[in-house]
Amino acid sequence: MALNDIITRIHAAESAAGRAPGSTTLIAVSKVQPPARITAVLDAGHRVFGENYVQEAAGKWPEWRERYPGVELHMLGPLQTNKLKPALDLFDAIHTLDRPSLAQKLARQVQARGSCPQLFVQVNTGAEPQKAGTLPADADGFIADCRALDLTLTGLMCIPPDGQDPAPHFAMLREIAGRNGLQALSMGMSADFETAIAFGATHVRVGSAIFGARDYT
Ligand SMILES: *Cc1c(COP(=O)(O)O)cnc(C)c1O
Repeated sequence: MALNDIITRIHAAESAAGRAPGSTTLIAVSKVQPPARITAVLDAGHRVFGENYVQEAAGKWPEWRERYPGVELHMLGPLQTNKLKPALDLFDAIHTLDRPSLAQKLARQVQARGSCPQLFVQVNTGAEPQKAGTLPADADGFIADCRALDLTLTGLMCIPPDGQDPAPHFAMLREIAGRNGLQALSMGMSADFETAIAFGATHVRVGSAIFGARDYT
């Protein structure tokens, strides 16, 4: 299946970059995909998945978590503060921590629950007005604010602008992470995950190259 091709390509990219095999986590992005395509990937043994919408994820993953032990679920879509509680019930990682209001609510929830998901700060590396994420110029300050709220950060995430060379964006994310002492880099999608691995991605988010095109109709 396509999953195996992607895993082979990830290992080749790790090796080309002089990185250890298996140093990249493959997040299979299953949003909007028909359930049969997702269970096929679960049956193949893969356990790390990404979703973009809290409601959609809530409709399918609780049952699959029971059927397939070891599932790890990553939230990749913009997160509204009023969806934070159900999101924390569902997800093991949040890649879209991007603003003070969300960080404050998250900090309160983490305190109340006594557990914290993996947290990635999303950086809008292209400074695109329609895109979520902290602006690059604000990233250091926002990271410091999150830490002041006692949030433990895992790393950074970016989605480079459509139609641009992603390499400078990956390089920028790596630099911001480096100067802030953050290890994890969530970057690279179906079209560019090998480039992202060359720039140090620890988490690649691959959807259509594994599952096929998404049908939004
Ligand atoms: C949908 C999505 C992906 C996967 O995109 P593909 O091009 O299908 O690999 C990765 N990251 C985010 C944030 C997404 O929304």
